[in-house]
Amino acid sequence: MDDISKKAQSYRGRFAPSPTGYLHLGHAKTFWTAQQRALANNGVLILRNEDLDRSRCRPEYVSALYEDLRWFGFNWQEGPDLEGPLGPYSQSQRFALYRAAFERLKTAGFVYPCVCSRQDVLRSIAAPHAGDDEPLYPGTCRPGGATPTAAKSKNGRQVNWRFRVPDGESVEFADGHYGPQLFVAGKDFGDFVVWRPDDVPAYQLAVVVDDAAMQITEVVRGEDLLRSTARQILIFRALSLEPPQFYHCPLVTDDSGERLAKRHESLSLRILRQKGFTPEALRMDWKADSI
Ligand code: GLU
Repeated sequence: MDDISKKAQSYRGRFAPSPTGYLHLGHAKTFWTAQQRALANNGVLILRNEDLDRSRCRPEYVSALYEDLRWFGFNWQEGPDLEGPLGPYSQSQRFALYRAAFERLKTAGFVYPCVCSRQDVLRSIAAPHAGDDEPLYPGTCRPGGATPTAAKSKNGRQVNWRFRVPDGESVEFADGHYGPQLFVAGKDFGDFVVWRPDDVPAYQLAVVVDDAAMQITEVVRGEDLLRSTARQILIFRALSLEPPQFYHCPLVTDDSGERLAKRHESLSLRILRQKGFTPEALRMDWKADSI
């Protein structure tokens, strides 16, 4: 077998929805791109249920997820409903893996405890960060920073654990859709949370652990996560793991140019189905930029 066909056979992509609401047209378009790319590479697709946030995830959204994805024409070869060799495929069942990775980051000195809430961070910065990305952390609790965490945590508040980014270092990657990307740590994003005060891993850590453990070769997701990809590359490096390839998709917007969110109920797949739309009609004009 030559190198090209070996590579083509080992493509592993994923759909990674969070069951915090019904899937909308924006999810469908990103997942459709993921499916097209997997098919073009003769690959495998994994469905991963990202249900770590117990306060927002609901069981009815999990069952709706399978139903809506299947209705739209998605197929996956491994997932919570099918199992597979690298499961379990629901994040709520993978806690031990996240904890082990977190302990490694702690031991190696990549993370530090922080008592600042999101509100504290917002209050302490002069200007909010561009878009809806998280604000640049001012370093209040960084070891050697202005206010030692040990002193503040005496109030009994639970702590976040933040990844200490290498200030001034460039994180570069070649995006499959947008081309070369460069983000500067400490400027484009600051120290970010990897473990939350309610003792749950943050998205950034869980997704890295899972993409590595599930041997994902290409991550397809929305372009709102480009900056997070740079953060995640730092975690991959800290854990001595090989990052996958990345392919970010343009986001679907509503008539006023606002990107779709779960609150856009009228564009959820189930409402569109109730209104009589077919999947074929909904994806009629997607072909041009799908792969
Ligand atoms: N569960 C995340 C979301 O729905 C996945 C993002 C990703 O693809 O990494 O936004």
